[in-house]
Amino acid sequence: MDSTDAPHDFVRDIIDHDNETGKYDGRVHTRFPPEPNGYLHIGHAKSICLNFGIAKDYQGKCNLRFDDTNPLKESEEYVKSIIEDVKWLGFDWENRLFWSSDYFDQMYEWAVDFVKKGKAYVDDLSADEIKDYRGDVVTPGKNSPHRDRSVEENLELLEKMRAGEFGNGEKTLRAKIDMTSSNMYLRDPIMYRIVHAPHHNTGDKWCIYPMYDWAHGLEDSIETITHSICTLEFENHRPLYDWFLDELGVYHPQQIEFARLNLTYTVMSKRMLKELVDDGLVTGWDDPRMPTISGMRRRGYPPAAIREFCRRIGVAKKENTIALQLLEHCVRDELNRSALRYMGVLNPLKVTITNFPEGETDEMDVINNPEDESAGTRKVPFTRNLYIERDDFMEDPPKKFFRMAPGREVRFRNAYLVTCKEVVKEEDEIVELLCEVDPDSRGGDAPDGRRVKSTIHWVSADHAIDAEVRLYNTLFTEEDPAGQKGKNFKDFVDPNSLEVRKSCKVEPAIKDLKVQDGFQFERLGYFCIDQDSADDSIVINRTVTLRDTWAKLQKKMGK
Ligand code: ATP
Ligand code: MG
Repeated sequence: MDSTDAPHDFVRDIIDHDNETGKYDGRVHTRFPPEPNGYLHIGHAKSICLNFGIAKDYQGKCNLRFDDTNPLKESEEYVKSIIEDVKWLGFDWENRLFWSSDYFDQMYEWAVDFVKKGKAYVDDLSADEIKDYRGDVVTPGKNSPHRDRSVEENLELLEKMRAGEFGNGEKTLRAKIDMTSSNMYLRDPIMYRIVHAPHHNTGDKWCIYPMYDWAHGLEDSIETITHSICTLEFENHRPLYDWFLDELGVYHPQQIEFARLNLTYTVMSKRMLKELVDDGLVTGWDDPRMPTISGMRRRGYPPAAIREFCRRIGVAKKENTIALQLLEHCVRDELNRSALRYMGVLNPLKVTITNFPEGETDEMDVINNPEDESAGTRKVPFTRNLYIERDDFMEDPPKKFFRMAPGREVRFRNAYLVTCKEVVKEEDEIVELLCEVDPDSRGGDAPDGRRVKSTIHWVSADHAIDAEVRLYNTLFTEEDPAGQKGKNFKDFVDPNSLEVRKSCKVEPAIKDLKVQDGFQFERLGYFCIDQDSADDSIVINRTVTLRDTWAKLQKKMGK
């Protein structure tokens, strides 16, 4: 598939069918409902691309709705980050930003209706007791001794719960369904619990908060969502949502479950990501090694690459695990098209061109992006004093090493053919190479057509600026860090996942880039400017290496 193909999947099949039968009068209205209890991750990106993508494809609408039903875990910081991330991914909810807390009054009214109909009761059992009474898949549950309270008593107790007359956990409101149901979610689920905690939107107004399972279907109904798309684990909750909506006799969305995204070398749960942050194993939610959208943004992943990744993995009913290399492949692909090329040396070795005059500068015209002519050219200064990559020289090269070596001529990219004449050492360490250019090879080719086997990058020592470059590897050493029996996922954090190179030398044009700007260092990979940069110090992140390990992986799999 290439990017012009419109996606097709079972969710869109269902929508097509609904549109044909006129189920929602051709209306398509989805929502993305994050809980603001952490930063969004790449799994959420899949859901965002699906929900907003469908709205776009069908000229429908997609709401952003914060599921803010748990004040203990939610915060303004998370709200802000989610808003920024969804926007950055390229999606627009227009004027449809909603909150579960917008509906707290309505939900409470409906809860009172349930009590009045004898379909809900106030329970005194503790959380542990409720769990014991619930039974398990092979054992039917038992009724709570408080299940048969009168409507009047229930109404009074519920009102007292709301008025703050009980402590946390002292009482709950439960739906009266069936403690023997084969569906555990129908065994008298909790609708409200007592939490004496201020809420970021409603302040101190409430001390009882709706449970997710009570709230979620109601919110979809209130917003007249047509297709309520969620991950597979909610399949078993669907009968409960249906029961609530049927009892209320209100509008019903169609819930559709799809398989969540799993990625190799990654954990994909806000709880685990929060642990990494809280334990200081990463520098924050936006650490470039994190699978969060903010981490990926900081690392230099373009939003278009993430959208393309989501398009390629598609949506299915069956869970599987996607190779991290596919995501990196999409990032490389996008940056190959869009990123400007520069030269930078991460591990500098001094080179002196002995037949090039001191103090003179030869400005080479260099193409900014061979994939995009409109990106133009820039001047790159060539001088007597240069740096090359230490790895690009070997004093005693083995057979297949074609880069610089004593007596050998190589091409200095975009400049001249250069021959190494002498190696300068201090003690046993190589500190400098004395070299000569062929003045007739300006531009990189000799007039006599002789060939050189290797092209290397360089920077002018007289013009280069210093930079700190941060190289990232996968955060975990295991493909499935959370799935290792008897081990904690944090045991697999790779202590070498961040490698900092302090005294890198990069070409002067890098100075003009802004935080977040992505580019290629020729032969090294794609990079971007990190937010830790200041006027007098540049910090650069490596976004991804140049080598396409995904293509290699596919070859290995015989594709
Ligand atoms: P986590 O398990 O990471 O805490 P969550 O499901 O609790 O995630 P929510 O904020 O409730 O997080 O999720 C918002 C939406 O994103 C939900 O509709 C959820 O189904 C979807 N989502 C979460 N994780 C994934 C994933 N790995 N793949 C696809 N969709 C996901
Ligand atoms: Mg959730």
